[in-house]
Amino acid sequence: MIPYKGIGETGFDLYNHAFRDTEAIQDELFKVHLELALSRQLPLVLHVRKAMHKVFAYKQALKKLPQVIFHAYSGTLGEGEALLRQGINGYFSFGTSLVGGRKETIRSCAGLPLNRLLLETDTPYQPLRGCAFSRWQDLPVILQAVSRLRGDFGHSGADTLESLIEANFYQAYGSLRKP
Ligand SMILES: [Zn+2]
Repeated sequence: MIPYKGIGETGFDLYNHAFRDTEAIQDELFKVHLELALSRQLPLVLHVRKAMHKVFAYKQALKKLPQVIFHAYSGTLGEGEALLRQGINGYFSFGTSLVGGRKETIRSCAGLPLNRLLLETDTPYQPLRGCAFSRWQDLPVILQAVSRLRGDFGHSGADTLESLIEANFYQAYGSLRKP
């Protein structure tokens, strides 16, 4: 049995023309996923590319979910802070684009509350430079990048950044500790 459950990933991808052409279908599927997450009270894992306005449009419903996990978060720091301030129990997951030096991602990861950060590799879709695919084994490289940004993790009371992120994972998926 898988101890941690959620719905997703689901969401909105308006990255280019081809994606934008499917917006109506994306909307339709998103509503089904959202409804399911609401009725079962499960965390919703969101994929959002060039579509943060859609997330804000669903704010009222997203507030009623136990957790909302922003996979490969690509919004701005201000948008992330606004989501939290407006009552969405959000967790923000960062991957290899942090290592690649994407400025907005670095700003978000450096500025969002430590207890909201998650790490991921989006295997196989976010390869490190020079690699064909990403692998879960890339996680330590991402952890290193976060650790360069968040020297302040000591204030959280966690022994290591890794243990802090691990605790965030259990919170994000609705459990206070390891099974
Ligand atoms: Zn995705």
